[in-house]
Amino acid sequence: MRRKVIAGNWKMNMTPSEAVKLVNDLKANVANTAVDVVFCVPAIDIVPVVEAAKGTNICVGAENMYIEEKGAYTGEISPNMLVDAGVSHVIIGHSERRQYFKEDDEFLNKKVKKAIEHKLIPIICCGETLEQREEGVTLTFVKGQIKAAYEGVSAADALNTIVAYEPIWAIGTGKVATTEQAEEVCASIRKDLEEIYDADTASKIRILYGGSVNGSNAAELFAQENIDGGLVGGASLKPEFANIVNY
Ligand code: 13P
Repeated sequence: MRRKVIAGNWKMNMTPSEAVKLVNDLKANVANTAVDVVFCVPAIDIVPVVEAAKGTNICVGAENMYIEEKGAYTGEISPNMLVDAGVSHVIIGHSERRQYFKEDDEFLNKKVKKAIEHKLIPIICCGETLEQREEGVTLTFVKGQIKAAYEGVSAADALNTIVAYEPIWAIGTGKVATTEQAEEVCASIRKDLEEIYDADTASKIRILYGGSVNGSNAAELFAQENIDGGLVGGASLKPEFANIVNY
């Protein structure tokens, strides 16, 4: 039985003081110990959020990281900085990073390996554009992203990773994928993982759905056989996030 993961991706929202207020407002209501609750927050919010979340079930995640440990990489944040600050998870390859910051599969594979090396749990994002869905290439495109992300990652290490399937057309649009669409792709990702590793490994890796998840659609999505929780954008900034955690 896979334990569900309900992760919020705050994106570029919340100043440090707003971040602390949000954690304080939400913490009592997200105290569901039956699931993993992760708040992925902007880098500048990590330290105060870790502090505010002390003594709660909230895990703190980063939204991105660089692939080197230190040095002349102005503006970047290293995996060991994240670990030292108390971070446990890191989002890798969100479609916004792929699109706006030109992060490609090869670079993201390096990030996945670096995260694993530092015992950070990578939340590996994948997902198709509307054009790709309409062309009927969704499953092959996502398979390519998954294969690339896991290149050179052992089965034992893959167990400590999470996949997030986020169709780009459903992100921030209010246009949620139907449960059938979401389940179809998540099931296909599990098959891809089985092809890369084996059935046992694939059956243990958590696969999340992301894209306009809210308090009203979470339960139905998370009831699907291959959907092990959600990566939540907009609704993770609102009291509604508690309804998703307690779906
Ligand atoms: P929304 O929930 O706002 O659609 O965002 C989804 C997402 O991108 C989470 O990473």
